[in-house]
Amino acid sequence: MISEIVPTNELKKLDPVFGQLSFDNHEQIVFCNDKDTGLKAIIGIHNTVLGPALGGTRMWKYNSEWDALNDVLRLSRGMTFKSAITGLNLGGGKAVIIGDAKTQKTPELMLRFGEFVHSLSGKYITAEDVGMHTSDMDLVRTVTPYVTGISEEKGGAGNPSPITAYGVFMGMKAAAKYKFGTDILEDKVVYVQGIGNVGESLVEHLSNEGAKVYISDINQDRLEEVRDKYHVDIYGGKNIYAEEMDIYAPCALGATVNDDTIPQLKAKVIAGAANNQLADEQKHGKVLRERGIVYAPDFLINAGGIINVYAELENYGKQEIIRKTENIFNTTLEILSNAETNDVTTHQAALAIAQSKIEARKSEK
Ligand code: NAD
Repeated sequence: MISEIVPTNELKKLDPVFGQLSFDNHEQIVFCNDKDTGLKAIIGIHNTVLGPALGGTRMWKYNSEWDALNDVLRLSRGMTFKSAITGLNLGGGKAVIIGDAKTQKTPELMLRFGEFVHSLSGKYITAEDVGMHTSDMDLVRTVTPYVTGISEEKGGAGNPSPITAYGVFMGMKAAAKYKFGTDILEDKVVYVQGIGNVGESLVEHLSNEGAKVYISDINQDRLEEVRDKYHVDIYGGKNIYAEEMDIYAPCALGATVNDDTIPQLKAKVIAGAANNQLADEQKHGKVLRERGIVYAPDFLINAGGIINVYAELENYGKQEIIRKTENIFNTTLEILSNAETNDVTTHQAALAIAQSKIEARKSEK
């Protein structure tokens, strides 16, 4: 047997997929390669008990293929729990395309990607994520029906990001109510890290409410644009985590809540749009709880986007989208008090509820 002759650390190298830490009994992982268009993509299907695996496609310049694999595994797993806790009949899936969306995304590449999605016969349904726009989904739609996040002109529900931001705003308000005793964010100091599609829309809600908003991004042009539009402040320092603030809203990429940042954090609440904010959900969830920092679980409060794209499959309209998204406020409050009652982290409390919904459906089958 191979395990008898290969030391454990070597064996890990031989277990690139099932042995990955982020592998969590995923049902299927599809590697898509097309030499002509330069497409290199990975589709992760985590769980389809509640329905087809729906989740966006991210295009990103990963440092390595390992990083891409790790990302898709973490993201697709998150989608399973996001849909479950939101009460949608969807499973969890996600796709990543390896490459720079600004320079390497061509119509040919997107069409080829769409063909790969189509080959899965609806087991995976795609949508937009970082590096993608509704126009990309419109293009994918020409080769497969298994795509959501289509533009309104083409009969879709349009860009999901504003709805995602609204849901995050609802979750943030609930976390504020829990921590500060009021959901009114006027005068609260909020740092929004990443002012892309979702971040900008969140800034709009926050500034309308009179919060004191600081923004940070790696894109200077965006910073100036958003500052001028909403009259908020650009964060000029070097270490956002160490700043005095009420609320930290991570809206760029994941894993910003980690061993390095937690000891420096002065925020009392963490509530943002980014997926997988906790680098290690068990360990870091626990440390936040010990430090009294209220963490609004990411997969719970950033579900507005999936609610929006699900409307395309279930044919419900804007009103129902808003109603479901506003309900994130109640669910977040429930989860936060549930965590306290059961003496677990907020992430664990949310996960347990999502998992119980999946188990219940499984036993019905
Ligand atoms: P986006 O690509 O439009 O915006 C991301 C922004 O983050 C960009 O402006 C980018 O310059 C900035 N950024 C990247 N690295 C940064 C860093 N180190 N520091 C500061 N800023 C940085 O993406 P988006 O659609 O706004 O999504 C933001 C996050 O929310 C992602 O993690 C995404 O997975 C998650 N999310 C998005 C949706 C949605 O509907 N778009 C839904 C659920 C979750």
